[in-house]
Amino acid sequence: MAVSSDSPNWPGTASLHTIASHGGHPLGVECACGHRALVPLERLGRRHHNMTEIRQLPLRCACGRKGQWIATIFDRAEEAEAWRNRPPVEGAPIASSGGGRPTF
Ligand SMILES: [Zn+2]
Repeated sequence: MAVSSDSPNWPGTASLHTIASHGGHPLGVECACGHRALVPLERLGRRHHNMTEIRQLPLRCACGRKGQWIATIFDRAEEAEAWRNRPPVEGAPIASSGGGRPTF
């Protein structure tokens, strides 16, 4: 089952290795602005035995915020797709993607 970093079930030391051991599906990242993306493991770093904590990843949203995101680990590809296609939280502004910098 998918687990988010704002959930009490989140493993405190969740790392890239944790993602790999959950099947290696893309990591779901949702910014405080409501922008949401699936980030493939290949973009995050070495998959196996990589103990880099997910909360330490240098991810940055298209809106410019850094470190204000919630990560979600998925056990199944269908969960990841459903999460990405979920309608945005009501009231959340739509992130602009202007600039085309390497963001999520
Ligand atoms: Zn954002």
